[in-house]
Amino acid sequence: MSVTTRGALPDGTYDVTVIGAGVVGSAIARELARLPLRIALLDASDDVGDGTSKANTAILHTGFDAAPGTLESRLVRDGSRRLAAYAAENGIPVEPLGALLVAWDGEQHAALPSLAAKAVRNGYHDARVIPAEEVRAREPHLGPGVLGALDVPGESVICPWTTTLAYATQAVRAGVDLHLNCRVGSVTSSPSGDPHLLSTGRGPLRTRHLVNAAGLYADEIDRLLGHADFTVTPRRGQLIVFDALARDLVRHILLPVPGALGKGVLVTPTVHGKVMLGPTAEDLDDKTATGSTAEGLALLREKGRRILPALLDEEVTAVYAGLRAATGSEDYAIRAHPAQRYVTVGGIRSTGLTASMAIASHVVDLLADGGLPVTGARELEPLRMPNLGEAFPRPYRDAELIAADPEYGRIVCHCERVTRGEIRDALASTVPPASLDGLRRRTRARAGRCQGFHCGAEVRALFDRKAPHA
Ligand SMILES: Cc1cc2nc3c(=O)[nH]c(=O)nc-3n(C[C@H](O)[C@H](O)[C@H](O)COP(=O)(O)OP(=O)(O)OC[C@H]3O[C@@H](n4cnc5c(N)ncnc54)[C@H](O)[C@@H]3O)c2cc1C
Repeated sequence: MSVTTRGALPDGTYDVTVIGAGVVGSAIARELARLPLRIALLDASDDVGDGTSKANTAILHTGFDAAPGTLESRLVRDGSRRLAAYAAENGIPVEPLGALLVAWDGEQHAALPSLAAKAVRNGYHDARVIPAEEVRAREPHLGPGVLGALDVPGESVICPWTTTLAYATQAVRAGVDLHLNCRVGSVTSSPSGDPHLLSTGRGPLRTRHLVNAAGLYADEIDRLLGHADFTVTPRRGQLIVFDALARDLVRHILLPVPGALGKGVLVTPTVHGKVMLGPTAEDLDDKTATGSTAEGLALLREKGRRILPALLDEEVTAVYAGLRAATGSEDYAIRAHPAQRYVTVGGIRSTGLTASMAIASHVVDLLADGGLPVTGARELEPLRMPNLGEAFPRPYRDAELIAADPEYGRIVCHCERVTRGEIRDALASTVPPASLDGLRRRTRARAGRCQGFHCGAEVRALFDRKAPHA
């Protein structure tokens, strides 16, 4: 079991190397970990899930609105079921709130029946159109002008941070080597069947099979292997997070009727007990442009005021942005190159969290077509991930736990009620955080309304004392 963050990479040849430890690459590494093979998972960052996977709207979709017949439609539907079961088994918080797709004008209202029919074509049979009175009764704080909604009871919210971390933790415990701070710069492949030679920021690495799950950079890795069939255009989604006092204003995931640029602006509770408004959809050139803009936030506030006017009076805890890996296609760009023993997992745009486990299973099938031996799969030991969900028991409220270990009764971050015990556990975990942001994704410390103003010094002191790099 190993996580490395610096120094030369191990000698020898891996059976499979996965580039990118986002939610997709980590899910693939976890799926591969079931096999008796030597597996590496690489990421340029110092942590898993530090790209798009940390900055999304965290909805576990049913896939009701995918383009029917696409690979995405199939993998979202399958992935949704798999991840819901996995989350329940391994302690990832999920709240099955259901979604309402709210129509605000005649055109949107007229589109609802066809969206219900599309859901059926996507294998989802529980969506139904409901009248304005029912929408209002179920969401009393909606703004004026609601004409009706599509009720999609199967949609849930999930913790995106815990999901990636669970996959990576399970993979590492099952023997996968996770190499962080390890950017792949070039790939040399020989047609004769010799292993691929990857040159990374931490030296060379050899691997028989290669999986490209590099998110926004999947097109660039693809070109290193001689393929140019898609280009990733980052589509920025800015988001506003409102504080816990806003949580009572909304009971469902409030989705817009989709437009040409995707799913549009939504209002959703988060499993962390807050309310999120967003995202925008801005096509950019810069794959690092994860900043928020005054125009983007103003647009969100304007749209949010229409949906849930009282939300705009609530305190904002944070703003952030994520970049979708758009390719101009309505489907994922998952391509197998069996002769090269190489699989590209590109264009995983706005549903990759939901579909991650199904993508992983599909990719292992594609690797098998390229000659990877896939016999001898075993079940992995289940995990019990630390609970970050507000709707589930948390350590500071657990008298028995505190009696057994008083560190769970000593709150450090008062906004989010994070204890010294949880911070200690995160720092000693299988895939420990390399930064305070990584610690926040594992504990919620500094994620509350003061953004670390009160607890920042103490959290840093604990981190500096215990962090593996210290
Ligand atoms: C605003 C927004 C809202 C969304 N909402 C949802 C939602 O509600 N539900 C849902 O299911 N999905 C949602 N998504 C989509 C989901 O977040 C993505 O599909 C998913 O995170 C993609 O994961 P990934 O692993 O492919 O990419 P990433 O998380 O970006 O991971 C790719 C990794 O590759 C690494 N990498 C890149 N290049 C190299 C290199 N050369 N060498 C080594 N490592 C490299 C990066 O450091 C990164 O960690 C949303 C996305 C956005 C932006």
